Formats: sequence, C-alpha cells, structure tokens
Amino acid sequence: MSETPVTVPFVSFRPMERELDADLRGAFARVLDNSWYIGGREDAAFEKAFADYCGVRHCVGCGNGLDALVLILKAMGIGPGDEVIAPSNTFIATVLAISYVGAAPVLVEPTLESYNIDPARIEAAVTPRTKAIMAVHLYGQCAPMDEINAIAHAHGLKVIEDAAQAHGATYKGRRAGSLGDAAGFSFYPGKNLGALGDAGCVTTNDDALAERIRALGNYGSDYKYHHVYKGQNSRLDELQAAFLAAKLPHLDAMNAERRRIAARYLAEMHNPAVTLPAELPDCTHVWHIFAVRCADRDALEKHLNTRGIGTNKHYPTPIHLQGAYAELGLGRGALPLAEEISATELSLPMFYGMTDAQVQAVIDAVNEFEG
Ligand SMILES: *Cc1c(COP(=O)(O)O)cnc(C)c1O
Repeated sequence: MSETPVTVPFVSFRPMERELDADLRGAFARVLDNSWYIGGREDAAFEKAFADYCGVRHCVGCGNGLDALVLILKAMGIGPGDEVIAPSNTFIATVLAISYVGAAPVLVEPTLESYNIDPARIEAAVTPRTKAIMAVHLYGQCAPMDEINAIAHAHGLKVIEDAAQAHGATYKGRRAGSLGDAAGFSFYPGKNLGALGDAGCVTTNDDALAERIRALGNYGSDYKYHHVYKGQNSRLDELQAAFLAAKLPHLDAMNAERRRIAARYLAEMHNPAVTLPAELPDCTHVWHIFAVRCADRDALEKHLNTRGIGTNKHYPTPIHLQGAYAELGLGRGALPLAEEISATELSLPMFYGMTDAQVQAVIDAVNEFEG
C-alpha cells in the first residue's frame, strides 16, 4: 500500500480563510450595509485597535507599506540633499521609499546571525547629510533597536522602523511599531497580518507627525478642500480596515503557531550543509520568513521542490546589483554580506495551519539533502 506523498506549498491562506470565513464575510456585509467606503468608522476602529496592539498613541492607515514609509519620510521633512541609512539586504520597498522623497539611500551591511543591520557598521556611514536610520525588522525579528536608537540620539537622527514583516514581534518586551520615531507596516496579503488586498499604516507616538501623515495621505488636506501640503492619495479603505479588524484578534495565536512550527524546524533539522536562523535574546521572532542558508542553495531548492515542497528566495538579487540602483555605482563585491545572503538564502514553508505531516515532510526533506 503506497501512501500519498505530502505536498507543502510555500504559503497557503486556506486554513486561515476557513477559520475566519464567517468573520470576513460579516465584515464585508457590514461595510456594504453601511454604504461608506473610505475614512469612516471601520478605519477609525481598526486604527484604534492596532495602535493599542502595538502600544502607541497613533495608527494612521494608508494604501500600502511603501506609502507608509514615504509618508513618514515626507512628514519628517526628509528630501533632496539628505541621506537615509538602510540595510543592504532588505526588500526593495525600504530603499524605494527613500528614493521617492528625493533623498539618497546609504546601504549598511547586516550580520549573518540576525540578517538585520549591523549596528557596529552604522556610525561609519553617518555624514553631515544623514537625517534618519531606517531599521528593518527583517524576516520577522526586530533590529537591534537599543544600539540604533543610541547612535541616532548621538547624531540627532530620526529612527524609522520598517515593520512590514514584523506584526506582533517584540524587542525587550515592546512591540515592533513602538521602537522608534515612527513605523511603517504593510498589510499585503502574505504578511503576518494581511488584508484581502493592498493596505498599510504608520504607527507613532508623535502627535504632530501623525497629524501630518494623515493630511499627506489625503491630498495634503487637514479638512475638506483645504490643502496645507502637496499630498498624495494613500488611504486605508473601509473594506480592508474591516477585514483587518476581523483578523487582528487572531494575530497572536497565528504568530504563536508560526513560532511552534519554527521551534520544530530548529529542534529537528540537523543537516550540516544547512545553516538555520537564530532567535536572538531580547527578541520574540514572528517568523514572517524562515530563512536558511546553504552553500549549494540551488541544489537544496531543487531537492525540496522535486519532493513537492515549495520554497522562495528573499531576495535573489541584492538592491545594489539591481538595474534600478545602478546609480549607486556599487558593483559586485561592494556589499559582500548582502551578496552572500542573496546567493545562499532559501525560505522554507511557514504559514498558519500547516499540518504536522507537512512540517514533518519539510524537516525530513531538509535532513535528507546531501549537500
Ligand atoms: C512588504 C514590504 C514592504 C512594502 O509593503 P507593500 O505593502 O507591498 O508596499 C516594505 N518593506 C518590507 C521589508 C516588506 O517586506
């Protein structure tokens, strides 16, 4: 008797959708019945709930995670002639936000242990033009915020968190989104807290900054047809806010399930050819991505894929080697750690609702890889 082989997609929303089906349909019905689609009670309720969740005074909804970062930079008055420090191994949106406001990104290498920016390398990148440090909580684990905030304080810089991968992650007991001057979140469907479409928000404790960000995302308008800034249109719509409000109460349980899967991977994978990620002291990792490294990454990828296990790479080409950033003038070899991670990183399946058999299949396949 042959058993059906267990296949494991890289990600599936199905288990979450089945569990929250009635809540999500209820949210949709409520918005339709209310016949109000932008800037209403659903937005206000979600913003309040997410600000409380993160432990901050303000949450301002916007169109997506990239816009959240752009709105923060604009509201801080950062623009042409300014420099902003960002990690060399992030998703391109972090760096695009800096470019969109006309500032120059200055890329700083990470540590291989954390995949987050190496605080020991930041100071050397500070110049008289530096205005801010963009701290990315990559893969779901917080950047070293005490060190980053201390450097920022010493040089009079703003600290912006790119928390797009870190909903619910903590650093020394405090949530991502409350660890700098302002934070940008994405609610792209694949994030730990995902909408059913594009959405994002900014969190901050700064009253004046929150007010400016809300105006900037609504045509620079503080009240109707009164425009104080050349703003943009980037708002959270009622429907996405209602879906997010339905999902937020389940975020901690869904993150706990990711942590349970990660704990099994870390305890049961033991292949010397595969380097596992680390959860650092002071951090509660929410495992947006479970990133391993392997010298022969492409062979590991093929090995897993032929066994029906989905994988991904975050990210296959570092930003400084993308055509879009040829202007940086940084060739191959300029940022060796970002290049090393791009060449060796493989992301394993990690999603709410993975079955024990699926987790076991991933563990067995990794352990059986002959590197
Ligand atoms: C997803 C992501 C973004 C951008 O979010 P969008 O909602 O897709 O615009 C920014 N930074 C990081 C690190 C991300 O992972």
